[in-house]
Amino acid sequence: MKTVDNSDEEDKNLPPFYGALKKFVKQKATLWSTPGHASGNGLKSCPAGRDFYEFFGHHLFQADVSSSVEELGSILEHCGQSAEAEKRAAEIFGADTTFFVLNGTSTANKVVFFATVAPGDLVLVGRNCHKSVMHAIIMNEAVPIYLTPKPCSYGMIGPVGFEQFGKESIRAKISASRLATNRKAAKVQLTVLTNSTYDGIIYNADKIKAQMSDLTHFLLFDEAWYAYAAFHPFYERRYAMSPYIKRRGAHLPPVFATQSTHKLLLAFSQCSMLHFRQGTAKDCELDLQGLLEANLMHSSTSPFYPLFASLDVNTQIMKESGYDLINKAINTAVRFRRAIRRAGERYAKKGDWWFTAWQPENIHLTKYPQQWALKPDSKWTGMDIGKEDDLILDPLKVTLLTPGVNPDASMTDFGIPACIVKKYLQARGVIPEKIGFYNLLFLFAPGVSTERTAELLRVLHDFKLEYNDNAPVAKWFSSIAAAYPKRYENMGLADLCKDMHAFLKSNDIMKKCASLYSELPEQAVAPHKAYYGLSEGKTEYVELCNAPGRVSVFMILPYPPGVPVIMPGERFPSADSPIMLFLRLNEGFENTFPGFETEFHGIKKTYENGKVKYWVSTLNKNKIR
Ligand SMILES: *Cc1c(COP(=O)(O)O)cnc(C)c1O
Repeated sequence: MKTVDNSDEEDKNLPPFYGALKKFVKQKATLWSTPGHASGNGLKSCPAGRDFYEFFGHHLFQADVSSSVEELGSILEHCGQSAEAEKRAAEIFGADTTFFVLNGTSTANKVVFFATVAPGDLVLVGRNCHKSVMHAIIMNEAVPIYLTPKPCSYGMIGPVGFEQFGKESIRAKISASRLATNRKAAKVQLTVLTNSTYDGIIYNADKIKAQMSDLTHFLLFDEAWYAYAAFHPFYERRYAMSPYIKRRGAHLPPVFATQSTHKLLLAFSQCSMLHFRQGTAKDCELDLQGLLEANLMHSSTSPFYPLFASLDVNTQIMKESGYDLINKAINTAVRFRRAIRRAGERYAKKGDWWFTAWQPENIHLTKYPQQWALKPDSKWTGMDIGKEDDLILDPLKVTLLTPGVNPDASMTDFGIPACIVKKYLQARGVIPEKIGFYNLLFLFAPGVSTERTAELLRVLHDFKLEYNDNAPVAKWFSSIAAAYPKRYENMGLADLCKDMHAFLKSNDIMKKCASLYSELPEQAVAPHKAYYGLSEGKTEYVELCNAPGRVSVFMILPYPPGVPVIMPGERFPSADSPIMLFLRLNEGFENTFPGFETEFHGIKKTYENGKVKYWVSTLNKNKIR
């Protein structure tokens, strides 16, 4: 096998930072600096270390150098080859300025907040934003005004309706805010939207920029899932760094985009890019030195160079073949979508069930975004779409619906909960991105091949066969069956589906939870104040059933998707609210179907007599001034 020892001539075509790093590694310099493993040599003294070294290979260790290597420039100071790499990325991704961020978009979002928001500032934030945005609100002591996502019958978290970007709507929200000190503010400081949404719904970003220009100082599109948009005409006008609208006299706010290059492009985990473009008005120009400072505040002083190089290489890949990669990924996804539909038609003839791809009826002309539009009259969305909304579905994010839910969120007699399908897929080595009660999301990243698509289809068909055979639960979920032998004894897959669906149906879960993220709880105190209650010793745990009326200290969220149902400082709503029903249902579900629970952040669990109990941290009434 040929190793990576190309001639120096070939290395000339490598992007600047990776090229320089590789050249440096080839020089085999001896380092009298950190990291202490000294190109991996230190690891070779014991078997585990040797194994580790050999498993990852010597180049990785040789490339793990400290910022004392001058040939590579300084990542922290943004000079030399590293700055060159960022400058190229800015050009290629369409920004004025780009920073490579090595601690994920979680950090990139916080950097944007720290560069733009001061304590008490109003920030307008989609309630479907990622927890990192919500963390930034706490850390910056900002006052959040929420844009609420559309409820969805199928349990997806909808987009924000366009009417909420109106001046009147925003003013009304500000004047109704209990936390705002300036209820007459004409502008908010920062507006944050997730584009595309977790479920792949894409806004018309240019339209929102124009609409928001007089209403916000800064605009951030969290494009964690959407770093490829600039490379395919399908996404034209629908992403943060899209070339500015040419209309004369158009005022545009300064715009940020934060992108997880690792999520749907090809970088290592944690690799993210922060893009920025100044607005048209001179009075709200961002001081770039400030952005740099905010970035430093959130950066480790020991960046891992292979991560930085992976961002540099991603830039090069997108430059050379961005369109082809994305075009191929779209075609692969669409072929899969059609295959799912064809199989559904075949099964339907026999009166049998199958998975439904959540998508428009007609997706034959894939290159036309209009075909992927969420229209006011389209039934498939399960959402109330307005005329102005101008939303499309990203072909790359494929949601499969399992049977069980009607378009109006009522539930059918027959149903297959998604968590059982997911566990089966997992047992077969196929991992979906996330699931809901009756849906599974698969990402068609550029790395997905036709073979992998075929495998996914095969495994889905196999699930159906196993279901039809009522294969023993223990056959596929051996660890769950072993952990809870009595519970799943003599049960088959079909029995389990039936039981679980009956449980969810009896709770009318889809109707009750459709507005889980759109009916907001009362904001009793600011998020940071509630959170500080922790270090001030003003908190106490209460059982979930006693939570209504009390103020939450933590952010509570199911993960994935990582979107909070309760923010710190919000009051737990009444027992019959969607939020409380959802949380109680999860507790009950975990007790009824142990082994199938979802991950929750912000909840403490205790176990007694084989039953789990949920506890939440709340502000102690007696200790609040
Ligand atoms: C995953 C995600 C993030 C965080 O990105 P990381 O790169 O994992 O830190 C931020 N925002 C959204 C919308 C996400 O889905």
